[in-house]
Amino acid sequence: MLLINCPYCGVAAEETELHAGGEAHLKRFGPDSSDDDFTGYLFHRENPKGVHFERWRHVNGCGKWFHAARCTNTLEVFGTYSAQTTEPPKDLLDTLRAKRPGFKWRNIA
Ligand SMILES: [Zn+2]
Repeated sequence: MLLINCPYCGVAAEETELHAGGEAHLKRFGPDSSDDDFTGYLFHRENPKGVHFERWRHVNGCGKWFHAARCTNTLEVFGTYSAQTTEPPKDLLDTLRAKRPGFKWRNIA
């Protein structure tokens, strides 16, 4: 069972209380962008075996969206944080670098 702490209400929620929202920190491209950028925004997603940054919603709780750093291989959750950010917080990245030396996700290493 996957347990993820909601950063807003502090509850350690089971995955049945949550809804997965896909990849976090997507860069949006509008109608004035190139076809390649817009296609990438719509369809291309990371699918790593390892650390991944994801969006989750605490559906059966506070209802808010948040981000989580999770390993897709071991299901270890490294931390959660507000969805109102454009990149993961520094303390979470420091934790990831300590636990998973050499991890890389997009341009974050
Ligand atoms: Zn919550």
